[in-house]
Amino acid sequence: MSSGVSGVFGRNAFNEATMRECLPKNVFQSLKRTLDGEQPLDPATADVIANAMKDWAIAKGATHFCHWFQPMTGLTAEKHDAFISPTKDGRTIMEFSGKELTQGEPDASSFPSGGLRATFEARGYTAWDCTSPVFVKEDGKNITLYIPSAFCSYTGEALDKKTPLLRSMDALSRQAVRVLKALGNGCTNVKRVIATMGPEQEYFLVDQSFCAKRLDLVLAGRTLFGAKPPRGQELEDHYFGSLHERIANFMNEVNHELWKLGVTAKTQHNEVAPAQYELAPVFSTVNVAADHNQLTMDTLQKVARRHGFVCLLHEKPFAGVNGSGKHNNWSMATDTGINLLDPGDTPHDNMVFLVMLCAVIRAVDQYAMLLRASVANAGNDHRLGANEAPPAIVSVFLGEQLTDIFEQLAKGSAKSSKRGGQLKLGVSTLPHLPKDSTDRNRTSPFAFTGNKFEFRMVGSSQSISGPSFTLNTIVAETLSEIADVLEKASDVPAAAQKILQDIATQHARIVFNGDNYSEEWAAEAARRGLPNIRAAVEALKTIPSPQNIALFTKHGVLSENELRARTEIFLEVYSRQINVEAQTMLTMARRQILPACCEYSARLGEAVTAVSGAGVKAEAQKAMLQKVCDLIATLQTRIEALEKARAGAAGTKGHERQAEAYRTDVVPAMQALRVVADELEVLMDARLWPLPTYAEMLFVR
Ligand code: ADP
Ligand code: MG
Repeated sequence: MSSGVSGVFGRNAFNEATMRECLPKNVFQSLKRTLDGEQPLDPATADVIANAMKDWAIAKGATHFCHWFQPMTGLTAEKHDAFISPTKDGRTIMEFSGKELTQGEPDASSFPSGGLRATFEARGYTAWDCTSPVFVKEDGKNITLYIPSAFCSYTGEALDKKTPLLRSMDALSRQAVRVLKALGNGCTNVKRVIATMGPEQEYFLVDQSFCAKRLDLVLAGRTLFGAKPPRGQELEDHYFGSLHERIANFMNEVNHELWKLGVTAKTQHNEVAPAQYELAPVFSTVNVAADHNQLTMDTLQKVARRHGFVCLLHEKPFAGVNGSGKHNNWSMATDTGINLLDPGDTPHDNMVFLVMLCAVIRAVDQYAMLLRASVANAGNDHRLGANEAPPAIVSVFLGEQLTDIFEQLAKGSAKSSKRGGQLKLGVSTLPHLPKDSTDRNRTSPFAFTGNKFEFRMVGSSQSISGPSFTLNTIVAETLSEIADVLEKASDVPAAAQKILQDIATQHARIVFNGDNYSEEWAAEAARRGLPNIRAAVEALKTIPSPQNIALFTKHGVLSENELRARTEIFLEVYSRQINVEAQTMLTMARRQILPACCEYSARLGEAVTAVSGAGVKAEAQKAMLQKVCDLIATLQTRIEALEKARAGAAGTKGHERQAEAYRTDVVPAMQALRVVADELEVLMDARLWPLPTYAEMLFVR
């Protein structure tokens, strides 16, 4: 075995190279045809593959296998079974059949189904997704063969995030191939179009010793109290700063763990907020990217523990500093290796590129609300529209060159492409740099970045599957509209030109290259009629609209029932999350903050008595005591108000109305309670304050 990274990379993944090595040639070829979507896997082939997988996994020390799937509630799920099979004479042999590989049947009754199945109909099935490599995972001494799987109900309805993603990939491929065939232009031999994805993952690392003392971090993954520290991110010295040694060691181990699993961890750096970091892989098929992103989140958290950290994946662990997102870089590639969003040197005469670009622009404009809803969760409510992340308004950044072409298209046809030229740095020893034809725009929610789009609204804790299947499906829809026209056209180039002109005219409003954080943009977007939905609940409610039901059913991605069920689950998850936060706040306020404040007021009272008793004026002490007592009274009132709001919301019937109650009653009551506690924190004797401070958590490494 070779040493170094290439020796480690993919060591624990049953990837194509390993399969080629381990499987008989005809079996491998048969599996390849399944992977290419040409034929289903036959049971005899599955048996041979399962056996080879088992031998490979056992050689790596594995004792168990599991179907690994992504239920509707954020996390991944797994149930382990040992390979052992007892023999009549009291021994055991290691067995793993094709059936065990391809199908599992976990008791599904405890997974949320959004009403798709009653608990007495507990059956659920997992099905092997052979397009995502099986892998061996080492958790302490436990070594297990993981089988990436889809999860559905007894009636075949999707209960997970992978199934619609796989369906959407098929839909996108179908429609894109139709368009390519109709256009001609050298792409007629394309059999499949693949959605590609490179998700950049942001996260925080906080020393474990602080986290252990904060119930909010333990239970809610974010701080629910905490005064602004004397120093925040204003010095802007963390972003891209040199890596602290302890962090570098952590990252090194994360990379090695991920490389072993075949995850292409590539880029790492300090992010904007202190204690915030980012990791990005090399892009892959969106389905594999989604699985690998789950593994990345899991690995970040696991390795953090080994290094005495806790990794926070919440969208907003700390108020007042940057939150964490996921930047989903997305494109479409042909099975012949062409990136369909690569503009080439002369985008104005690259018809395939222009059609694909315009299809995306139209999709984003028509389904802006749906895209917004696809990233809606309680955590993201703290980011979107809070002047640090993209706003809740969806718009597209095209940059100078493409905007110019888009404007030319609106007038009839595009005749030229603006060039980037060269950058001269004025130093003879530095190289001349070719200038990109387009600058970047960090504030845009949906930005064209050279040869892909970057969807930046996704929250750091979210699965990338939801936003990805949404994007795949809306683009499939506009491509299908385009294909419908092109397939019937007698003069295809003229018809294509007309389509581009129509899109450039009708959807100009979605293009915005300016500062998305500015108030002027919010006003301008309103004039353009672009939706601006700040709250997750409001966004989620719009999911089962007639337009969206028609979209998802037409492309076979989600049935109306599945879509409605999902929406119910999202709303329920929202309510539960806020409820946990509210209860955690109440516990901390009553059992930690209030007692500490009472203790402090008692000490101040003693100080007043002692000082006055000595015949000295104690006006300052008295004033402090008064202030602390007033704040304690307010704290007490707000605790009661929050409890009342929480109980009211908890008792509200119906997922939608309940989520609304949490949003309109509980969230503001939480905020009000926090404000007064934070005020007390800055007044109090530091020795009495029961919680680690923002300064400690953000700056001590
Ligand atoms: P930046 O956001 O700073 O431009 P990179 O250019 O390194 O960062 O790319 C960010 C992510 O985009 C990486 O994960 C990269 O692999 C991914 N990416 C690059 N090309 C594509 C593509 N054609 N499709 C999907 N993702 C891509
Ligand atoms: Mg980026």
